[in-house]
Amino acid sequence: METGPTGLATHEAEARLLIYGPNRLPTQASKPLLWVFLANFTHLMALLLWVGGIIGFIAQMPQLAIAIWAVNLINGLFSFWQEFRAERAAAALRALLPAQARVLRDGVVQEVPRETLVPGDLLVLAEGDLIAADGRLIEAAELRVDQATLTGESRPVPKHCEAYAETTSERAALPNLVFTGTTVVAGTAKALVFATGARSAFGQIAQLTEGIAETPSPLQQELAQLTRVVTVIAVSMGVIFFVLAVGVARVNLAESLIFAMGMIVAFVPEGLLPTVTLALAIGVQRMARRNALVKRLSAVETLGCTEVICTDKTGTLTQNAMTVRQIWAAGRMFEVQGGGYAPVGAIVVDGQPVAHDDDLTALLRAAALCNDARLLAPNGEYDWTILGDPTEAALLVAARKAGLDLEAELQHAPRIHEIPFESRRKMMSSIHQPGQRVVYVKGAPNEVLAHCVALRMNGALRPLDAALLDEMTTIKDGLARSGLRVLGVAQRDLASNCDLSSAAAIEADLTFLGLIAMYDPPRPEVAAAVAQCHQAGIRIIMITGDDGLTATTIAQRLHIVASPQPRMISGSELAQLDERALADALQDEVVFARVAPEQKLRIVNALQQLGKVVAVTGDGVNDAPALKQADIGVAMGRSGTDVARESADMILTDDNFATIVHAIEEGRAVYANIRKFVSYIFTSNVPEAVPFVLFALTGGRIPLALTVMQILAIDLGTDMVPALGLGAERPEPGLMARPPRRRSDHIISRGLLVRALAFLGMIQGAVAMLVFFSIYWSQGYAGQWLDLPADGHIYQVATTATLAAIVATQIGNLFAQRTERASILAINPFTNRLIWIGIGIEILLIFAISYVPWLQWIFGTAALPASSWLLLLACVPVLLIADEIRKAVGRA
Ligand code: ATP
Repeated sequence: METGPTGLATHEAEARLLIYGPNRLPTQASKPLLWVFLANFTHLMALLLWVGGIIGFIAQMPQLAIAIWAVNLINGLFSFWQEFRAERAAAALRALLPAQARVLRDGVVQEVPRETLVPGDLLVLAEGDLIAADGRLIEAAELRVDQATLTGESRPVPKHCEAYAETTSERAALPNLVFTGTTVVAGTAKALVFATGARSAFGQIAQLTEGIAETPSPLQQELAQLTRVVTVIAVSMGVIFFVLAVGVARVNLAESLIFAMGMIVAFVPEGLLPTVTLALAIGVQRMARRNALVKRLSAVETLGCTEVICTDKTGTLTQNAMTVRQIWAAGRMFEVQGGGYAPVGAIVVDGQPVAHDDDLTALLRAAALCNDARLLAPNGEYDWTILGDPTEAALLVAARKAGLDLEAELQHAPRIHEIPFESRRKMMSSIHQPGQRVVYVKGAPNEVLAHCVALRMNGALRPLDAALLDEMTTIKDGLARSGLRVLGVAQRDLASNCDLSSAAAIEADLTFLGLIAMYDPPRPEVAAAVAQCHQAGIRIIMITGDDGLTATTIAQRLHIVASPQPRMISGSELAQLDERALADALQDEVVFARVAPEQKLRIVNALQQLGKVVAVTGDGVNDAPALKQADIGVAMGRSGTDVARESADMILTDDNFATIVHAIEEGRAVYANIRKFVSYIFTSNVPEAVPFVLFALTGGRIPLALTVMQILAIDLGTDMVPALGLGAERPEPGLMARPPRRRSDHIISRGLLVRALAFLGMIQGAVAMLVFFSIYWSQGYAGQWLDLPADGHIYQVATTATLAAIVATQIGNLFAQRTERASILAINPFTNRLIWIGIGIEILLIFAISYVPWLQWIFGTAALPASSWLLLLACVPVLLIADEIRKAVGRA
């Protein structure tokens, strides 16, 4: 492949990219845009409208016909635009999702976009990586690969780099090849890429569809269902109206038909679904700005009802910026001074700086050699920085502080083999050969001690008896109780014939060297986020791989648990609990520590059995089942593995717990906003329906206070932009002071219907009708309710005034809807620009409809007298005031 141990040169990789093309799998073309566009004009409702227009022409009502067609056109364009924007937002988000691969180029390990991999690249693989190209292994340590995507076999297969005589035609079965689309379950490796993109084994068998079709979210399903119900109601109303008009009021047949149709059009909320989709998409975009990438629209809704967050500790609640604070070796407790990754600071014992200490040096040498991190010196731009795992980097810093020359140590004792760290084992071993083979081991103290037989004391070995073990445990507990993360370190000389492929043989009969305790400061935002969760009725359960005492101390410091003695359940104890006992334990405050990732799944299941909506965080391969099972799987964008990110619903680009809480708040806000605009739109349906009901009830003796065209002007004209504005509202105050909504709650709740239809809608209907009658009364029909003229100029003025009254009251309603419970005075009126634009458009439209002659012709309107405008001005605050009173009563 014309490459070498330092990988390709960057310019060579670029040149090869031009030859081989991007490393992309062939994808099925998505639906053509034109098709999507046309779909908005050919659904049942739209077809009905096209036919309606034709009937209008036949019935010689061209203005109505043209208007219905125009409405259909505008509506279709609007839906398409919303769909298009939602899709664009989703695409932009997909581009944000990390799709990187680690390669060795120019002798340096670097992250590059997966698409730029070329044959000849050296892929660097670690646990949890998605393999992005086909490669031949050239190094492998304990590598196990999940090839289910390729072979359907879900058991991980071991892989190694030795040459292999091919006796099988099944490529996937070859143990020294790795393939695109498969994942590293354990171990580390280097692989030489030999095929990319369509030439990879996966590319040849699979025509992958990009982004599996998204199933509609529960909310979208509910609204689709609602639209159907309302359609049935509207059609029935239309039919009743038609029968009444023809049978009782003796209106001509074609005219009645078209009126009935107009009514149906007016009441069916065909714009609702695209608006909801857009509101969800806007929510997703907002979350992305707050570092939470949501992969499915439906996750936005689920976030809003999250009741429990199961979170890990390191890196999510804490900064994962480790500094060694204390070291215990050979009976002495050393204090390490200095902070951050700069290797400056003294090591002190009993207040005295230590110049040199053999036991300490042996301990730190082992910790520094059993290590994959790198410490980078300042380069003008950055201060001291690290590459790799912060826990390991902290050990390097401490070793430097003790005066060890890391490069020289590694040169003197090069690594010949390793057993990589795994969360399940909680240990890592590294074998070196300075002459004699030596294994250095580090890991969770109890795990390491379990493999030890002796303790190094002042250069000599002491057998590790029960008393000594007790003493070690007490020291470790003391360090852990102060919130420090504690590692144990050990070593052993290996016989030259020791079997390097057997972890059991290597990690046996070790000599314990000591304990290293490091501090990992909590993230500053977390305490506030935790408080916010508690206020919002959301429970937080810490599930960590770290020590129980460390975990409990951190949980207490962050006020995740309130009790001074919360229950701590360790992984081994958890394994003993049956389902009942676990369910009982979950009723109270509890911290899970030293938990194997697989056990997270059990905890998530148990919480779900209790009926909870659960969010769970994870970053490793073994977290994948829990992430999939959870209602909201949350993966870490920075420290997480590809596997975790693939299984998650949401990815935190900053790995921060507080971001989950922000996302929950946004999720609640999106839901609330959808309720707001649904409520807003529903309100005006009442005054639109009232004239028809009165007309029908009185057998036509109360003339229709609104024409069908005027109804359309509200539904598809004046109400549109303000409704969108409500969809873009910020979270209302107090949103996070309420318990989560239940998942079974419907968005169109009884409360919403009562408020919109029975309360606000009825008031609006009454106001509109009063304005209608007031026009007649001011023109010589004082006090008369029935048998008013149903045509002519006065009728036109009266209906125009009714229309204007609805628009005016909707302005007040717009502000009323901005909050559901809080007083409108509690929010800044100027935060939402779209609302003001909406009002501007509303006023402009209503003036245009009353005064522009050709619009008068279309809508059957007439210019309003100046005195009416005063009356209309008084209509504006009516709904706002009424709703403020309702809110105040509700709060009291
Ligand atoms: P959390 O689950 O909250 O992220 P964690 O980082 O402690 O916590 P793991 O990464 O599963 O969880 O680590 C488990 C334990 O293994 C640690 O508490 C530590 O004792 C040990 N450990 C962590 N990193 C290493 C490492 N690089 N080498 C050896 N041991 C390690």
